[in-house]
Amino acid sequence: METYPKAHMTAAIVFTLSMVVIFMALPSQESAALKREPVSLKITHAETLPDATEVVETLPTIEPRQAIADNWQTFEVRNGDNMSRIFQRAGLSARILHDVMSLGTDVEGLRKILPGQKLAIQRDTDGKFLSLRYEESPLRNLVVKLNGDTLDAFWEVVEPEVIIAFTSAEISSRAPSLYHAGKQAGLSDNIIMELANIFQWDISFALDLRQGDGFTLMYEEYFVDGEKVREGDIIAAHFTNMGEQYAAVAFEDDNGRRRYYAPDGSSMRKAFLRDPVHFSHVSSQFNLARRHPIHKQVMPHRGIDYAAKRGTPVRASGDGKVTIARQNNASGKYIVIQHGQQYTTKYLHLSNFANSVRAGKRVSQGDVIGYVGSTGWATGPHLHYEFLVNGVHRNPRTVELPKSDPVPSTKMAEFLRVTQPLLARLDALTGSLQFAQRAGEGSGGEG
Ligand SMILES: [Zn+2]
Repeated sequence: METYPKAHMTAAIVFTLSMVVIFMALPSQESAALKREPVSLKITHAETLPDATEVVETLPTIEPRQAIADNWQTFEVRNGDNMSRIFQRAGLSARILHDVMSLGTDVEGLRKILPGQKLAIQRDTDGKFLSLRYEESPLRNLVVKLNGDTLDAFWEVVEPEVIIAFTSAEISSRAPSLYHAGKQAGLSDNIIMELANIFQWDISFALDLRQGDGFTLMYEEYFVDGEKVREGDIIAAHFTNMGEQYAAVAFEDDNGRRRYYAPDGSSMRKAFLRDPVHFSHVSSQFNLARRHPIHKQVMPHRGIDYAAKRGTPVRASGDGKVTIARQNNASGKYIVIQHGQQYTTKYLHLSNFANSVRAGKRVSQGDVIGYVGSTGWATGPHLHYEFLVNGVHRNPRTVELPKSDPVPSTKMAEFLRVTQPLLARLDALTGSLQFAQRAGEGSGGEG
């Protein structure tokens, strides 16, 4: 009943060639070219671009500040450390520690210091406590200072330098899931998850990734004192899935929160998630096998199956009201959610319901409603998911769904002004990738 796109045999070759073309297309240095090309935006500081080979895990030292003031001593937090041990190592009294720890909510963080973090203490020539600086993160320091007879606590926010990094990756037999492809491109778990979050309403990362699918990504990297301290947000992204290209770009709402929109200003967010099970829990071999994992060939059935471990969280795919949460012979423990007048979703074979879930309960999109199991007629642990429109079973991947929250018309001009240059840049990068793919297919031949 299902037709599958023709296997893309040249994926591995194409991936290699695309990288070569990127190196040629971007006039940066050596291997940094793929990931670190600076963009001439206001927030970039290309001249301080660090060497890509630098070790990024190292916390920035606080030596520059130590140099200005006398008698600073730096302590690195060790395993099992607490403030009292550090004050002992510094030769300071329990009395001064007590005074510091009594400064209220600002100093609460000092109770949660972690190995590897740094704390600097300044004393006068008589050994009397003057101040303390605690690096909670490279971007945030707590300072406690003696002012006359009183101690003040306040936070210092370190202004990072932000550069825009690029990368791209492709799904292949060697990188059969979004996670693998992201790792191959050198992305952190956070950025991979953020990428999946942006496209989770359009793409089933659990079931619909194919060889030849792939993405191009622009994202922020934060630097302090020339060292990368963390990644920021995704700025813009292309994702090609089964021949279809999706694009998303970040734009701040009135509260300064970044949201993601399609280039025309429509929201990436939709009424239903593609996958009620997070892709990271679904065995990736099924992505490339192109058939549903459980009993798909045995009998035609009206749902989608997600093979996942027993106990994997199952999420409500949309806002709605639980109408049924009970057990029967065939479906095992199952949940039915009504979403407005038209839409119904069903979740079968659960090992358990989430604590608060029962008939009548309102749920929001993404809420955990239960856990994958094999209750009822199931040969192994999996989620059987059904999607109905006006009582008729439909494919949630193809059915037309209502969209939500486009860019407000009053902000549309600003949206286009801000995002079009970013998308043009992304297009150029993706275009060079596709050129590489065509070249790869031409010279490599079809397998
Ligand atoms: Zn099923």
